[in-house]
Amino acid sequence: MTGALTTGKTTGFRAGVTAIDADYVRPGLAASHLVVDSGRAAFVDTGTTLSLPNLLGALAEQDIDPADVDWVLTTHVHLDHAGGAGALMRALPNARCAVHPRGARHLVEPSKLIAGAMAVYGEERYRTLYGDIVPIDEDRLFVPVDGATVTLGTRVLELIHTPGHALHHYCIVDRDHELIFSGDTFGISYRDFDVDGREFILPTTTPVHFDPDALCRSVDRLMSCHPRSIFLTHYAEVRDLPRLARQMKERVQAFADLGRRHSGDPDRANRLRQGMFTQLGGWLDEHGFPGDDTRRHYLLDDDVELNCQGIEVWLDRK
Ligand SMILES: [Zn+2]
Repeated sequence: MTGALTTGKTTGFRAGVTAIDADYVRPGLAASHLVVDSGRAAFVDTGTTLSLPNLLGALAEQDIDPADVDWVLTTHVHLDHAGGAGALMRALPNARCAVHPRGARHLVEPSKLIAGAMAVYGEERYRTLYGDIVPIDEDRLFVPVDGATVTLGTRVLELIHTPGHALHHYCIVDRDHELIFSGDTFGISYRDFDVDGREFILPTTTPVHFDPDALCRSVDRLMSCHPRSIFLTHYAEVRDLPRLARQMKERVQAFADLGRRHSGDPDRANRLRQGMFTQLGGWLDEHGFPGDDTRRHYLLDDDVELNCQGIEVWLDRK
């Protein structure tokens, strides 16, 4: 976070990148990133429909007209990343929305996403978390093949397919500025876990496409682009990349092993949850994180729940 300046909902970084708090669940959990080059702008991930005021506020803060936003880049169609894309597109008259070929139909016709999220969260919590999800006209979508590029001002952004977290996931590589927007592919690193500026990383193994080996290959592919910074949706810039990539892959395999160990247990879901919280606690101890169990539960319980559901789906698919 060297040099990062936070004001209100936004934090400024190098290379024209701003992280905007999506106000999803709690502060510092999910970001949308605004990228500005030569007066043109792009959003990377959108938060939910309820995040829209923060995103438009960030444009106003930088004196950017909504008509000067060229791109809404949704790394994948999970709702904390793309739930707000439809509402945002209505506010941006000239933007196109880039979405992975396997995710495109869900942004045009979001009923399946809505039903999926309601199944996980229940209708009441769903409404509180996501608001109303607005569809996007098909002719405003750009559906990139692996390695497709888009132009923003003077810069070229490369969209590479990165399965493992979700089959409908791509990452955005900016080779000139040696940075990547990784969505969920490079895991989660909440700034709450930073200890003396050292970053902590954990995988996100959300339902329904988690695939440990594919995810590790995708992490290797990101590192083969030689980034200096990776911007995570959860949350913003990390820089200690060789260490984090190694730990990310070890931890993906550790979660997969945890799943295999408990795959036949009658009380599988509970054992997985307890095992994962204990595993994460051990890593946090090694990291020197001072927070007690109450604080750890506050920061991790939602991820542990989603991760365990995703591991169970993976075990059932195998
Ligand atoms: Zn996701």
